[in-house]
Amino acid sequence: MRQKIVAGNWKMNKTLDEGLELIKAVLDKAEKPKGAVVFATPFIHLKDAAKLLKVRRGFHLAAQNCHHEEKGAYTGEVSADMLVSVGAEFVLIGHSERRQYFKETNAQLAQKVNLSLSRNLRPIFCCGEPLAVREEGRHVAYVAKQLKASLFHLSEQQFRQIVLAYEPIWAIGTGRTATSAQTQDMHASIRTLIAKKYGTQVADDTTILYGGSANAQNAVELFSQPDVDGGLIGGASLKPDDFVAIINAL
Ligand code: PEP
Repeated sequence: MRQKIVAGNWKMNKTLDEGLELIKAVLDKAEKPKGAVVFATPFIHLKDAAKLLKVRRGFHLAAQNCHHEEKGAYTGEVSADMLVSVGAEFVLIGHSERRQYFKETNAQLAQKVNLSLSRNLRPIFCCGEPLAVREEGRHVAYVAKQLKASLFHLSEQQFRQIVLAYEPIWAIGTGRTATSAQTQDMHASIRTLIAKKYGTQVADDTTILYGGSANAQNAVELFSQPDVDGGLIGGASLKPDDFVAIINAL
């Protein structure tokens, strides 16, 4: 069964106190979400956030990144084991900002995926094309390459733990949301690709989120597309009322 998810990616926003207030406000306002709700907080929030979330069914915690090596001399980095030890259940892998600013490669992302899965940390794996690629009509092939390079070495059992997030780079933080038709087309292509590799049952069961300027106004239409199973939300996840409206759009 395909799981519906709304995940909020706070990026590098909110002090610890502000972040905990935000979670409390969302927990107060969100009554019975129709799917799972995930907060991807900065690392330092995770331990305290986990205490707030563990008493509420359906609410989960994610980190925004983890290092691709198990441990060692990587000053300033955080390992998958550390994330699990403070209560993270999911981890964002391959966000376009990490690919762009931190030069993360498909091969490193594959290592992060492997390590996370080995620790029972579920990857929310992000993919998506830049504007020039979309304009040239190469977006489906571009995303297929990202998925093949970082995920298609996994066994079926491992792949079933992955949540995908299609995030066209031109839509992230720009206010230029992909249309529901563009989103549906890409999600359907991704599902077809998964079906070819892992079979139709796995493809049907895979959660594929949309991310890129999703908000309280457009979430209902985006989430009503047959292959869209929720969203990865950046800016709008920082405002409790907006985030709850998006959760209610599931
Ligand atoms: C994101 O960063 O994953 C994202 C989707 O951001 P925004 O919603 O702000 O476009």
